[in-house]
Amino acid sequence: MSKTEVPPRRRSVLVSGASIAGPALAYWLDRHGFAVTVVERAPTIRTGGYPIDVRGTAIDVVERMGLLPQIRAAHIASRAMNFVDGQGRVIGSVPIYEAIGSDSARDVELPRGTLASLLHDATRNGTIAYRFNDSIDSLHDDGQGIDVGFASGRRARYDVVIGADGLHSRTRRLVVGPEDTFTHSLGFCFSLFSMPNDRGLSHGGIVHAEAGRISGIWAVQDSPRVFGFLAFATDDAPAAISRDVAEQIRRTRAAFAGMGWEVPRLLDAMAAADDLYFDSVCQIRMPCWSKGRVALVGDAAFAPSFRSGQGTSLALVGAYILAGELATHDDPQDAFAAYERVARPFVEANQALATGDNGAFFLPRTQKDIQARDRVLAEIARNGPTGMFDASKQAVHASLRLPDYASVLPALPSVSPG
Ligand SMILES: Cc1cc2nc3c(=O)[nH]c(=O)nc-3n(C[C@H](O)[C@H](O)[C@H](O)COP(=O)(O)OP(=O)(O)OC[C@H]3O[C@@H](n4cnc5c(N)ncnc54)[C@H](O)[C@@H]3O)c2cc1C
Repeated sequence: MSKTEVPPRRRSVLVSGASIAGPALAYWLDRHGFAVTVVERAPTIRTGGYPIDVRGTAIDVVERMGLLPQIRAAHIASRAMNFVDGQGRVIGSVPIYEAIGSDSARDVELPRGTLASLLHDATRNGTIAYRFNDSIDSLHDDGQGIDVGFASGRRARYDVVIGADGLHSRTRRLVVGPEDTFTHSLGFCFSLFSMPNDRGLSHGGIVHAEAGRISGIWAVQDSPRVFGFLAFATDDAPAAISRDVAEQIRRTRAAFAGMGWEVPRLLDAMAAADDLYFDSVCQIRMPCWSKGRVALVGDAAFAPSFRSGQGTSLALVGAYILAGELATHDDPQDAFAAYERVARPFVEANQALATGDNGAFFLPRTQKDIQARDRVLAEIARNGPTGMFDASKQAVHASLRLPDYASVLPALPSVSPG
């Protein structure tokens, strides 16, 4: 470059949310040469947390990020889920990987916080700016760029803004409207909380379910703390669910009144927990994932619900595609249209894994669901899990062949292995 030549200005992107989709997107945008800022409401990356799965096409994404060895090393290798009756007698048992229809050879189960930390570490290269303890307060898209006001009072202008701020995305609310327009209830509320591992559980869980009431305890390896889980059927719209913790506890106690097994102990542990997570089991379904120069990714755009077990994988795949399409289109709106063309069929196929009869094995709503589950458990006891769960879920998890954006970007900046 001659002395007078000015290097092209790097396009700037603000990403809201630093969990899974946000750091994964930041990683790929940075590699494609964008100037990236990530704003996160929490004071730091949230570590710990429940186990999540990375499967199918998402494994290809983490492999391309050079993170597969670290992610594999964090695999928690759960072994079995036991189903018990009200007296704690075992009705049946399911080896975990067969149970979730996953492919044991390639797929990985790890704590959500561990994955978030690995993704964050992979983006701490000095060029991506993280701003914790802050969030987007206002957005003004004038067609050439976006003026952003932050809760901290700071103001800045970006070429593109991406909401990776989860199920209850504020970016989505600011740009396209209220949450209830896009949430689809799957008919349950659930709570998740940690509690002491008094029973010495290890590498798996115990579930006691009645129609519309599911209780469980889940141990990540030999951890001294386990996760308690309580889910109950409800016809309430997700938006109608109270954000008040005392009301959430009251509602859950009422829903589980009179239930046996360890349920009274779980209810007390829920009430005492300082990490209670309570929400509806729902999906985000949007006719379009972007508006103007703002787009959404991960749960903010297409949360599939934990019932699909695919939220993390969709977030990783969506981030990879969104960054690649931004890199290969000058106009963000063309990029967003291409992102949707490539990712939407994959997203919708994976969202469908959580609807209808899919998922009723773990979240039975009716007595018929319980009977169907018990027939499966009896069949597993007789013949083993082989053949009980068809391979179609695995095919859906891996149904997208990732575009190779590197090949259309000869000027890709030097790549660090992660
Ligand atoms: C109980 C439970 C079990 C699950 N089990 C599985 C599973 O087995 N397999 C699986 O694949 N998935 C599972 N999931 C889903 C998975 O956790 C999510 O789909 C995945 O984390 C989506 O990542 P995300 O980055 O899009 O959103 P999130 O992980 O929700 O992250 C959003 C981030 O944005 C931040 N944020 C929120 N609002 C703002 C704001 N206004 N400004 C700035 N930052 C903001 C949040 O603090 C957070 O860091 C489960 C979820 C739950 C709740």
